[in-house]
Amino acid sequence: MRIYGLTGGIGSGKSTVAKIFEACGIPVLYADLLARDAIAPGTEGLREVLAVFTTDVLDADGALDRRRLAQLIFNDSSAKRRLEAIIHPRVQEQFVRRTSALAAAGVEAMIYEVPILFERDLDPIFTAIMLVCSPEHERVRRVAARDGVSPREVRDRMHNQLPDEQKRARATYVIENDAGIDKLRERVRALALELFGVDSPAAREPAGD
Ligand code: ATP
Repeated sequence: MRIYGLTGGIGSGKSTVAKIFEACGIPVLYADLLARDAIAPGTEGLREVLAVFTTDVLDADGALDRRRLAQLIFNDSSAKRRLEAIIHPRVQEQFVRRTSALAAAGVEAMIYEVPILFERDLDPIFTAIMLVCSPEHERVRRVAARDGVSPREVRDRMHNQLPDEQKRARATYVIENDAGIDKLRERVRALALELFGVDSPAAREPAGD
């Protein structure tokens, strides 16, 4: 089965692009969702997280406070490594399980959306890699609005990722998200036709929020 990587910096529009591909009928797997499942309530992963981070990472209702967890690891590389050691193997296991199931069902091509694909040197597992690029000021504005955080916080998060110039050099296809949502949809559909041989006249449209 051909597996295409889909990546891009914070707020570049990866999820929006992924939804357009899904609307074209292409299966998409999301690394962020697998990571969430890895430490969902009742899992061994969550028990391991609590063993490392204690109840510091629980909210008042006893649920995992993901934002607090993110804050705790932001400036603590050792804590970050310990969290990754819990999450990454589980994500990898699920990735293999899900892609095998799709292959067994006869799916010939799919997309795996991974925000930190290049940062984790995952290039070799993919048939080809698609990178979504958007001007930095737009990304800051959109993420600040979407997540209700300050532009400064968005820029701090961005600086933990590789700059776009380096990502462009490693990508097979670059999807420029520098215009409105209609233009983006047009570009993604053209790529869907080129890589997957599909078009989506009657497909669901993603919410363009
Ligand atoms: P993150 O890495 O933070 O999860 P992302 O790369 O998946 O972000 P999206 O969530 O797809 O990015 O996009 C960020 C925000 O910008 C969303 O609110 C989305 O609706 C909006 N957006 C993306 N592309 C466009 C566009 N071309 N025009 C207008 N809004 C857009």
